[in-house]
Amino acid sequence: VYNFSSGPAVLPHSVLAEAQSELLDWHGSGMSVMEMSHRGKEFMEIIHDAEHDLRRLMAIPENYRVLFLQGGASQQFSMVPLNLLGEKKSVDVVNTGHWSKLAIKEAKHYAKVNVVASSEDRNFSYVPAEDTWQCDPNAAYLHYTSNETIGGLQFPFVPTPPEGVPLVCDMSSEFLSHEIDVNRFGLIYAGAQKNIGPSGLTVVIVREDLLDRALRITPTMLNYRVHADADSMYNTPATFPIYIAGLVLKWIEEQGGIKGIAARNEEKAGLLYHTIDSSGGFYSSHIETPFRSKMNVTFRLRDESLNDSFVSEAKKNGLVQLKGHRVVGGMRASIYNAMPIEGVKSLVHFMQDFARQHG
Ligand code: PLP
Repeated sequence: VYNFSSGPAVLPHSVLAEAQSELLDWHGSGMSVMEMSHRGKEFMEIIHDAEHDLRRLMAIPENYRVLFLQGGASQQFSMVPLNLLGEKKSVDVVNTGHWSKLAIKEAKHYAKVNVVASSEDRNFSYVPAEDTWQCDPNAAYLHYTSNETIGGLQFPFVPTPPEGVPLVCDMSSEFLSHEIDVNRFGLIYAGAQKNIGPSGLTVVIVREDLLDRALRITPTMLNYRVHADADSMYNTPATFPIYIAGLVLKWIEEQGGIKGIAARNEEKAGLLYHTIDSSGGFYSSHIETPFRSKMNVTFRLRDESLNDSFVSEAKKNGLVQLKGHRVVGGMRASIYNAMPIEGVKSLVHFMQDFARQHG
């Protein structure tokens, strides 16, 4: 089947096959990766390679640390304010949907939260123009969600905070999907289960000078400095997800790196949005064109009484997990890095056929 789930998402088939082939015996060690000591030579090689490959793919500068954590992106909603607030009193945030809102809710436990821009007035269908944002030059950081997985809204630009204010990004559902300049960010975080690997792993990329601003109440396990000093080995890391992530990173390299992946992602999203836009209104997207996500394509059927039959007919055609999130309804096709173009073409054909039959 082609799996359009928003996460945990598809992994490249070749990665799963490779993992299967060495599941019981990793590189002649006689052990599965799951059974290895996380401090042993074998696993150290795995985690070191994964970090090295990620650094190369994203051109992560020397003065940034890469942390392999657990707790999901949701845990970052508290780790970010706990660690970055320092002496400051407030944080700036942009509200573009479900995940921004959750990040805001959590930050409010620790800081005064200023919503500097919001697109809630028009049902999160756009990203507010940056020159309208009311940023505070004294904020501890500026936080945004570069891709709203549920709404299907993606930033087409990287914001520029006031001088000296670090930019923090929840990049969970677009991580590694197109090139970015890491230097623009103070901190990037991403749950693995979209573009990197299985759930259970959260990747954090943080500029070194931000490691020493944690509030005194910060629990040890939530302190970036603790994890950075221990090279992500303060406690037992998510060894198997880190191993799979390492294989995915090598796969990305084989696809022409992030540049190659990005070109394919453009093509895949282009095919789907073209199908929606040329359906004569049978399908529609409520997201304004420049902000339509290339990872999570959300759309509605004009006649919503056909929703169930759309989903079940699609399933019969091997196209699964197309139902939109319960909060927003409609349909959602998540087309992360590992979704092959053939999967998208197959969905396009199905959508055209379905529209012909029911239009
Ligand atoms: N942020 C975004 C943009 C997400 O898409 C998700 C999950 O889908 C989360 C945060 C929460 O991630 P987790 O389930 O890893 O806590």
